[in-house]
Amino acid sequence: PEAITVQELANRMAEKGADLVKALFSMGMMVTVNQTIDQDTAELLVEEFGHNITRVSESDVDIDTSEDMDPEETLRPRPPVVTIMGHVDHGKTSLLDALRGTDVVKGEAGGITQHIGAYQITTKDKQKITFLDTPGHAAFTEMRARGANVTDIVILVVAADDGIMPQTIEAINHTKAAGVPMIVAINKCDKPEANPQKVRERLLEHDVIVEAMSGDVQDVELSAKTGAGLDKLIEAINLQAELLELKARPDRDADATVIEAQLDKGRGPVATVLVTRGTLKRGDNFVVGTQSGRVRAIIDDKGQQLKEAGPSMPVEVLGLGGVPSAGDNLTVVESEQRAREVAKYRQEKATEKRTALAPTNFDTMFNNLA
Ligand code: GDP
Ligand code: MG
Repeated sequence: PEAITVQELANRMAEKGADLVKALFSMGMMVTVNQTIDQDTAELLVEEFGHNITRVSESDVDIDTSEDMDPEETLRPRPPVVTIMGHVDHGKTSLLDALRGTDVVKGEAGGITQHIGAYQITTKDKQKITFLDTPGHAAFTEMRARGANVTDIVILVVAADDGIMPQTIEAINHTKAAGVPMIVAINKCDKPEANPQKVRERLLEHDVIVEAMSGDVQDVELSAKTGAGLDKLIEAINLQAELLELKARPDRDADATVIEAQLDKGRGPVATVLVTRGTLKRGDNFVVGTQSGRVRAIIDDKGQQLKEAGPSMPVEVLGLGGVPSAGDNLTVVESEQRAREVAKYRQEKATEKRTALAPTNFDTMFNNLA
């Protein structure tokens, strides 16, 4: 931590706050116990009082897993995570529904498929594919802005009767910016006015060169309505996934990304997460954003309770202390105490940031008046 209040420092040193204020005064600083001092001043004070200094590093009080890589030999193949994008009414929702319908592993008899923000299907050749069920470019860009690159493959849906539209172009730009490979799904090919060839040609103008035009972007003609071409699309996804050689280490504490979260009346805070590595287990202690928690239940998209969830699996998690934000990282830690400690540190840091911002805003306001 870069700054600490005088009182907090006094508490840590087991000294009186007033004595620290006095010492600061003799050092030429007029501060109250509630004011913060910087790290250098704090160190001077600590020395003054004859204590030993142990600078607490960020890694002792917070966790950043982004840099810690798993050794190559621990990695195992994992299913691809797919996001569907495209212009409004071109058939994103219809395609998500149709793809879900191809799942060969049906839920328990009477089990109701539920919308949890993502789902996973098992294809005829026993491959698993995870689909993010939160279409909308905002979700994609917002997650990315928060450093959560969960999507491996983007399916760009273009209605063959409508062609390239503004949100199609937007989707192309987002996908390119993210550096994620794209598969073009030319939808509504059951319609008499469908013109898939025109779609392919118009895509050239946006530097999307599909295979049929001698490029390397896979394109599939289909109809979400009749189901024609869905097999081809699934094949295309599996092929693309193979090229990407997607891997993660399953036998370790889990990391996951929050896809969506809300406060459920009966169940409390609920988050849909996508496991990025490791295996999430019931009873695990974790930190997610500024919240801590302990996994009380893991529920899949078919409403079934699971004991654990591995890489690329989307699941609902119960047992959170509060509602996290989409894009937050969930990290399993060794103990409840550690989870609380990290969450508390992050909350403090978030508060600090807010207070630190206030004077700046005031200055701006003042300058604008002047
Ligand atoms: P979204 O806004 O991209 O999610 O589009 P929707 O999935 O809601 O579809 C918009 C409309 O197009 C709905 O009326 C669908 O029934 C219709 N639609 C979607 N796919 C097809 C298709 O393959 N063929 C036909 N004829 N209609 C479709
Ligand atoms: Mg829709």
